[in-house]
Amino acid sequence: DGDGAMAAAAGPERPRPAALALLGPAPGAPCCPHGPALLFVKTSQGKEEGRRFYACSACRDRKDCNFFQWEDEKVSEARLAAREEYNRSQQPCFTHRQNVDRYKNFVLLPLSKRRFCQECQQLLLPAEWKKHSDHQLLCDITTAQLKSPSQLLYPLENKKTNAQYLFTDRSCQFLLNLLIDLGFRRVLSVGTPRLHEMIQSKASQEKEFNVRGLLLDIDFRYSQFYTEDEFCHYNMFNHHFFGGEAARETCRKFLCEENGERVIMVADPPFGGLVEALASSFKKLMAMWSETEKEGHDNREMPMFWIFPYFFESRILDFFPSFSMMDYQVDYDNHALYKHGKTGRRQSPVRIFTNLTPSMIVLPEEEGYRFCSVCQRYVSSGNQHCEICNSCTSKDGRRWKHCVLCKKCVKPSWFHCNNCKCCTLQQHSCEKTDSGCFVCGKAGHKRSACPSLSRS
Ligand code: SAH
Ligand code: ZN
Ligand code: ZN
Ligand code: ZN
Ligand code: ZN
Repeated sequence: DGDGAMAAAAGPERPRPAALALLGPAPGAPCCPHGPALLFVKTSQGKEEGRRFYACSACRDRKDCNFFQWEDEKVSEARLAAREEYNRSQQPCFTHRQNVDRYKNFVLLPLSKRRFCQECQQLLLPAEWKKHSDHQLLCDITTAQLKSPSQLLYPLENKKTNAQYLFTDRSCQFLLNLLIDLGFRRVLSVGTPRLHEMIQSKASQEKEFNVRGLLLDIDFRYSQFYTEDEFCHYNMFNHHFFGGEAARETCRKFLCEENGERVIMVADPPFGGLVEALASSFKKLMAMWSETEKEGHDNREMPMFWIFPYFFESRILDFFPSFSMMDYQVDYDNHALYKHGKTGRRQSPVRIFTNLTPSMIVLPEEEGYRFCSVCQRYVSSGNQHCEICNSCTSKDGRRWKHCVLCKKCVKPSWFHCNNCKCCTLQQHSCEKTDSGCFVCGKAGHKRSACPSLSRS
């Protein structure tokens, strides 16, 4: 059912202790194979001081990375050495440089010798065929296929770690056209391999196309298809460049707006809930951009699109007060729920958050979006301007209704509960729970009953 799947996509299924807070990246944090671990604190009921611990920044599933260390834990030399050894052993078997060389050799092969191992997710050179003889292989890999790695590779859908949900062509094309119309010539793609691929592919095919891209992603499989100037193996939860200083420098260089080429960052992170960790990394990337200019860009912020579900709006605005949420519904190929469909369109909860002036973000009228002259932004067709709130208040695209008691607009399916003194779903239990909801952070309900996840 919709609610269940949506809740699953919005947060890890492993029930977290109710009060688990992220303290963020800490100086001197120990490393797991995914770079510096993040510091968390576990608080038990009523107790103020919880015990702090480090856990993997990237993997919210212990099966993917089970790194754990109490902050005050004494780690022996032997264990440290073993850990370092383990971290090394977990690195990919080819370096990025080796993959680039392999690619060069691969494209020299005739079509009949171009094979891709689906099991190992790897382009094969003829000398390696034997090793993969009982694996599923794709043969006759064309240049077109090499230019669309996101179609060749299978999406890493495991929700808790990669959550690789790829844009539909419609959404991807829309984003790219929007960026171009806004005058951007450089796109820093953070976890948006399909957008990057569209840029790279057009750049190699269309003469007048003058946009350049750099992809930052934790999915190292992409290093088989892009050079070190086009892809950096990066962890957006701890701002870790796996390629070290050289990779960091590539990114820094890319952010320099040489020849007046304006740059924008587009990020589409997994919706796992570590908003503060993401925000901290994005701020570091923005700072990298600011530092590229001595005069400091007149105190401007690096332009950004952060693609995320609408129910994280308040969390994002906590960290980026200059951002606003656009009504455009971003949808995905491999996620039934977030798919638009030709008829009976399913509403995607995913939106664009940006620090650009909302009126500049032109949304397609042929898809029903219209301009609200009061709000000075494009809104979805169902989003009615509320005279009392003096704003187009719908978040999910449906028409919302104004509640005079709450003094705000609420979802059409909500009712005012006199017990709770707020609007909520009709079938709710009035008992309050102590801890905040994992999804929206508000008290009064658990994640499974979060009103921001409810659908009609
Ligand atoms: N809609 C995008 C893909 C978004 S899915 C597109 O079509 O281009 C989320 C992306 O973030 C995936 O590419 C995934 O590999 C990447 N990702 C997941 N965890 C990450 C992490 N810790 N650091 C960097 N990238 C990560
Ligand atoms: Zn890890
Ligand atoms: Zn309006
Ligand atoms: Zn209202
Ligand atoms: Zn109400």
